[in-house]
Amino acid sequence: MARYIFVTGGVVSSLGKGLSSASLAYLLQSRGFKVRLRKLDPYLNVDPGTMSPFQHGEVFVTDDGAETDLDLGHYERFSGVMAKKTDNITTGKIYSDVLRKERKGKYLGKTVQVIPHITDRIKEFIKHDTSKEDFVICEIGGIVGDIESLPFVEAIRQFANDVGKKNALFIHLTLVPYLKASDEIKTKPTQHSVKELRSIGIQPDIIICRSERSIPLEHRKKISLFCNVDIKNVIETVDVKTIYEAPISFANEKLDIQVLNYFKIKSRKPCNLGPWRKINKIILNTKKQVNIAIIGKYVDLKDAYKSLDEALTHGGIDNNIKVKLVRIDSEKLKPSQIKSKLNNISGILIPGGFGKRGTSGKIESIRFARVNKIPFLGICYGMQMAIIEFARNKLKIRNATSSEFDKKGISIIGLMNEWNKDGIKIKGTDKDLGGTMRLGSYDAKLKENSLVRKIYKSKIIKERHRHRYEVNISYKEKFEKNGLIFSGLSPDNTLPEIVELKNHPWFIGVQFHPEFKSRPFNPHPLFSSFIKAAKKKYAK
Ligand code: GLN
Repeated sequence: MARYIFVTGGVVSSLGKGLSSASLAYLLQSRGFKVRLRKLDPYLNVDPGTMSPFQHGEVFVTDDGAETDLDLGHYERFSGVMAKKTDNITTGKIYSDVLRKERKGKYLGKTVQVIPHITDRIKEFIKHDTSKEDFVICEIGGIVGDIESLPFVEAIRQFANDVGKKNALFIHLTLVPYLKASDEIKTKPTQHSVKELRSIGIQPDIIICRSERSIPLEHRKKISLFCNVDIKNVIETVDVKTIYEAPISFANEKLDIQVLNYFKIKSRKPCNLGPWRKINKIILNTKKQVNIAIIGKYVDLKDAYKSLDEALTHGGIDNNIKVKLVRIDSEKLKPSQIKSKLNNISGILIPGGFGKRGTSGKIESIRFARVNKIPFLGICYGMQMAIIEFARNKLKIRNATSSEFDKKGISIIGLMNEWNKDGIKIKGTDKDLGGTMRLGSYDAKLKENSLVRKIYKSKIIKERHRHRYEVNISYKEKFEKNGLIFSGLSPDNTLPEIVELKNHPWFIGVQFHPEFKSRPFNPHPLFSSFIKAAKKKYAK
């Protein structure tokens, strides 16, 4: 039977529960165990798909087409285990399931209540499909004491009773602040947070203390005493320079060993930190760097392009070079500034996006990359903008546009049902994807002798999608005659998946999101190749 590890947070949010859970998963895996990671989010949205990146950061997409919390990205990158739809649940999803059942009369006349009906559904979710795992790590979003998280905390309390306390472990992550003025470390917020947790029936077994500086023994003793936790289980996590140091720092604190001791399980093999040490060395010691411009709408929020930032770093690791991300707000980018703003840039990346705002800045930057032969990677919306730029400036279709933001021009990017309505029979399929997102993993076949075929070293690839609009394939010939090759297509030849420019050192647009599948130990080939091209262009 699986053992369950619940990770809650206290004092403030954003302390790094996701990274702590992901690091613990790696350490346990490395010791020979099978681990699954899950996230329970207390907000009322059914999934984060409808939330603005400004609100909640990036929406991560799984192979099976779920739009999930970005922590699932950390989980995948650190553990290598592909997340599934069933690994992320929200209050909204739980309630809609329960209410649907209620409307069908499935509760047989009973009064439907938070306890037991909502908590039962949460418990079902935690347990679902975990019979083959040694450990299931469940992170509870938000912090203890929030009104929204209460049913989740109650559910995990009950869960530990159901499976037996020896099979469930509670980890609580709190903040131990350092006060500069008095040069003191404060344990009181942790004490209060644990008190709050205990008042709802949960005694943490391990406390992870996030701190700016190392926590002296006397303070650890204090936390141990007041919070009723063995001193060995008071674990510190001091701010690290890069997230890749986290697994090493938790191993130094023996987090994995304490978890195994709790469950009275012997390690199956020694923990291997070698790969982490290797990448930390590159990230921390490499002097050479390339500047990559990310031109998008959400550049002010650090988490909005989380997987993308990571994938670029991975590309840097593969090329032994530091990648400096220069974030440029596309809405504020005036055409007259492009030359000066992109002066020191070795590669330009336009990420995914939605809506009209900021499009002209993006299109102008793509033109700059195309004409000046600067390595360019367009992702999803970025590829669509590259198509529009090429159509307007090279094919001279001046009103070429996307029906996402302009209904009057020529929709080279549009919904598939629009094209059919216009009488342009291009698809040869009666599947109607209009008005819905294409989500999750889809195959693409790569053209022989193309740059992408060389990069991927494969005829068929699988990549994750999250978009509603597609490039109208009926323009393929016109584009190709003028040098923009459709080098990746859906297996039925109806949907352009990749475009690349002839006579340019590196200009690629992809309709999917390769960043979701990049891993620190297994960098995505597109990002490695993009950084390699940028390095060739200009590296300091
Ligand atoms: N807004 C575009 C679409 O829906 C692109 C989406 C994206 O970049 N993920 O097709």
